[in-house]
Amino acid sequence: MSDDPMVAIGLEVHIQVNTRTKAFCGCPVDAFEPNTAICPTCLGQPGALPAPNREMISGAVKLARALNSETNHISRFARKHYLYPDLPKGYQITQFDEPLAFGGGLTILSAGEKNTIRLRRIHVEEDAAKLIHDEPWIREGRSYVDFNRCGIPLIEVVTEPDLRTGEEAVQFVRRLQILLRWLDISDALPEKGQLRFDANVSVRFHNDEDPVITEIKNLNSFSSLRKSLEFEIRRKIKRYESGSTDTAETVLWDESRRETRTMRSKETLSDYRYIPDPDLPVLRIHDHEVREVEDSLPELPWQARERLVKEYGISVEHADRMVKSPETVSYLDTAVNHGANVHEVIRWMTGELRHLQKQANAAYLSDIVPPETLADLLIAEQEERLTGATIVDIIYTAFVNDVSIDEMKAGYDNGECSSQEDIRDAVDSAIREYTSVVDAITSGDKPGGIDFLIGHVLKKLSGTIDPKRVRSEILARLETVDKDSTDS
Ligand SMILES: [Zn+2]
Repeated sequence: MSDDPMVAIGLEVHIQVNTRTKAFCGCPVDAFEPNTAICPTCLGQPGALPAPNREMISGAVKLARALNSETNHISRFARKHYLYPDLPKGYQITQFDEPLAFGGGLTILSAGEKNTIRLRRIHVEEDAAKLIHDEPWIREGRSYVDFNRCGIPLIEVVTEPDLRTGEEAVQFVRRLQILLRWLDISDALPEKGQLRFDANVSVRFHNDEDPVITEIKNLNSFSSLRKSLEFEIRRKIKRYESGSTDTAETVLWDESRRETRTMRSKETLSDYRYIPDPDLPVLRIHDHEVREVEDSLPELPWQARERLVKEYGISVEHADRMVKSPETVSYLDTAVNHGANVHEVIRWMTGELRHLQKQANAAYLSDIVPPETLADLLIAEQEERLTGATIVDIIYTAFVNDVSIDEMKAGYDNGECSSQEDIRDAVDSAIREYTSVVDAITSGDKPGGIDFLIGHVLKKLSGTIDPKRVRSEILARLETVDKDSTDS
């Protein structure tokens, strides 16, 4: 065996499922005011009976099938006992030795090679309440609790200790995040607490039989996941080199100090006193239900990646940038099927269009320009009827002024340029019609008003002219208007 220390990292990923109601009661999940979405069931009052949320179960089955995990025909809910202010029942409903699914894997790239990270299990459970201590309005030494989060449905994915570095751990959760959004199981935003991680890490040295495992709890961003793992690995190596002993413990990551600190010595499973939940029946999932889910699965991100590389002959890196969502893949497919060059489409999707999309805060690229229209524009560019700069201009002007791209493009395409006289007439009529806009521009109150005038002129001329020409015509006209008014 080599003298290099062997790092082994396993992850527990907690995912908030996109459901309308909580895991075991009818309380809504999107309440804003603290402690308004609560009921006897999620607060665990005597006599209240939980019932599992169908959407939560079907989300977990869908994820299990996508990750090649075997669904258990019978799984069971269990109570995990611990005493903490965020847990009014004194136990959390989760699954223990009979989880919803087991096995499967998710492939990442380790040093350019495909590496499948094996999964141990996938199960469903409820979230605990939220404790609030660090707000400016809270007096020193006090804590507040919001029970709205109590009972929010979670899926937990547990991996085998197959990851080797903090970087690999981040790659794993990023790929999982894409899959969760792709399948509409979760929005998976770490900043909203919809994706949270616990990590187990051990470092085996050459004479080490049974390396000590450290558990890092409550990580809520990709960067804290990476940094805390890198810190723990370094700490373990230093300890080994200095000859001091390592002990199994649970630690928390302190983002401001960039170090881990001990929370408690690591608890064993028996500390939680798991028992089957007597209030909940066993969870039965039939073969035909699993098959239905399987048949309804769309093309998955890694399948799309492989297809794009094979079908379009693009690089893996380019394909990776396209498989951020099913929408981007379908945008690319549609534009290419419409006759555009695949490399050109990718260049536009990752360049100008993305830039415009961000500027306009649009949800989808197709809100900026439909893929068929982009294809038409790019074909016109290839045939040298339009230049790249004109295309940007057309898309931008059409978007800002709500003019149809097709109309504008038709004008450019046919070379039916409006005469100078037509332009002047259209500009004059716009200036006469919208005096308040003109005032706002000339007084400097709203210089952006010029875009409104340009749009109006373009509409009038059916877009048969370069917007830049209209702009300079309007500016020239406004100068004389300005002069006229100061002269008088
Ligand atoms: Zn409730």
